[in-house]
Amino acid sequence: MKRIGLLTSGGDAPGMNAAIRAVVRTAIYFGMEVYGIERGYAGLLNDEIVPMEMRSVSNIVQCGGTKLRTARCLEMLTKEGQERAVATLNKHGIEGLVVIGGDGSFRGARVLSEQYGVPTIGIPGTIDNDLEYTDYTLGFDTAVNTCLDIINKLRDTMTSHERISVVEVMGRHCGDIALYSGIASGAEIIVVPEIAFDIEEIVSKINHSRANGKHSNIIVIAEGVMGAEQFAKQLQSVTSYSVRPTCIGHVQRGGSPSMADRMLAAQFGNKAVRLLAEGKGNRVVGIRNNQIIDMDIIEAVSMKKTFNHELYETLQMISM
Ligand code: ATP
Repeated sequence: MKRIGLLTSGGDAPGMNAAIRAVVRTAIYFGMEVYGIERGYAGLLNDEIVPMEMRSVSNIVQCGGTKLRTARCLEMLTKEGQERAVATLNKHGIEGLVVIGGDGSFRGARVLSEQYGVPTIGIPGTIDNDLEYTDYTLGFDTAVNTCLDIINKLRDTMTSHERISVVEVMGRHCGDIALYSGIASGAEIIVVPEIAFDIEEIVSKINHSRANGKHSNIIVIAEGVMGAEQFAKQLQSVTSYSVRPTCIGHVQRGGSPSMADRMLAAQFGNKAVRLLAEGKGNRVVGIRNNQIIDMDIIEAVSMKKTFNHELYETLQMISM
């Protein structure tokens, strides 16, 4: 393979730039040319292509966001859109494609592979950690660390005023950001889409903790359940302690990637190009049990994300 394309798609995630760097540098190592496609599938459909050199990716390993920018592109769901995408690839002689994004982006890559024969490799780039085939997605660790920083600060003021803090984190339908930031911040309660909550049970846990000497409480709620404001209102109607909602919001998506995310980016990017260099396509890369793995893209996107109940029980046991 002589020339490959690279795009970032869906929601941005810290570490995408480090992955872009790893893809470009590994491709150059193998003597391939790399074309960067701007704004995800939208740029592919509209022929927004930039050649990338060794120095195009200098000084970006530490940057959040994505240098190639990202977009959602509904036209990619149509046959006409997909044909335009393939026409752009053909026009530039791009023989293989690396797609950095979440499950939606992988579905786009799958279509290109399955229906048009374009070898594609997916790199899981999303803060949500909502892909079953990989233990971690790129950006998740940094996003959780950002949540921890904010929760630490909230804890200071909540303790001074003896309040309950309801903190809303991202993750769409997946509770992993809430689960990991809840455990690592020492939150008493997490509310996630995977487990139905009982407001009376939450109140009784809070009362129990107060009776045992706690002066404040942290509740981390995943956006997929409801907003912090709505939950705080519901809770305030059944408790006399003062409740304050905070929505962390898009801050979670930005910032310099953590060591863990930079390491994943380097290894995912490198592995993706190695696979293309070996003539493989239609695969995704990931990490399982601390080993970098690759898997068939169809198998990967059809796996249903499971929730880690053991970690949830751990939180229950150590949080009060
Ligand atoms: P995140 O998890 O951060 O939201 P994502 O990759 O899942 O990232 P989506 O918005 O679901 O984000 O998908 C990104 C893009 O992938 C879509 O805008 C669309 O262009 C393309 N895409 C999604 N699903 C399909 C599909 N079934 N067929 C073709 N292309 C798709």
